Amino acid sequence: MRRFATLSLLAFMATAGVLAQEAPPVEATVPLETQPPWAELAVADGFDFPVGQPDAQAYYDAQPFGRNDHLGSDWNGRGGGDSDLGDPVTAAADGYVRYAEDAGIGWCKVMIVVHRVGEQGPWVESLYGHLDSFSVPVGSEVERGQELGTIGNCQGRYAAHLHFEIRSVVGGQVGPGYAKDKLGWVDPTVFIEAHRP
Ligand SMILES: [Zn+2]
Repeated sequence: MRRFATLSLLAFMATAGVLAQEAPPVEATVPLETQPPWAELAVADGFDFPVGQPDAQAYYDAQPFGRNDHLGSDWNGRGGGDSDLGDPVTAAADGYVRYAEDAGIGWCKVMIVVHRVGEQGPWVESLYGHLDSFSVPVGSEVERGQELGTIGNCQGRYAAHLHFEIRSVVGGQVGPGYAKDKLGWVDPTVFIEAHRP
């Protein structure tokens, strides 16, 4: 009797369309907005050095671009050792923070900021490696000279310093830090000196 009642109920529901509802219409899944979030950035008004803002006062580049196949500059405080641990690291230019994560052994915390250099582009990005802390989250729009984080020593792996890169190719991986092939990287000091505000 109970079984008959159950079947009767199912038959009723099917008839009423309860079990046979059509799937709702599917929305188009192609995103209308395919541009990256930095496509609408305002043109940066110029570039500063990312430590001792604006001109790296009281810092020196202990390993310039190209030496030992280095892809950036290693900014160290003139006090040596960990004397610069916790010092502010500032945005080289107005831009968009597209990456802020712990990138693992050798890198520790890394931030990448995208900058628009001209009305028609190009865009470049600046990379700040071995940070001790982040001061702004990923997705932020930042201004030249704004604090991004602080200088770290990668859990004691190095004397505290900032590994700093400028890249002419935007949107890639954190990368190797050193490479013979420097396509996609530029000398950050030469670039900054050619683009002062
Ligand atoms: Zn370095």
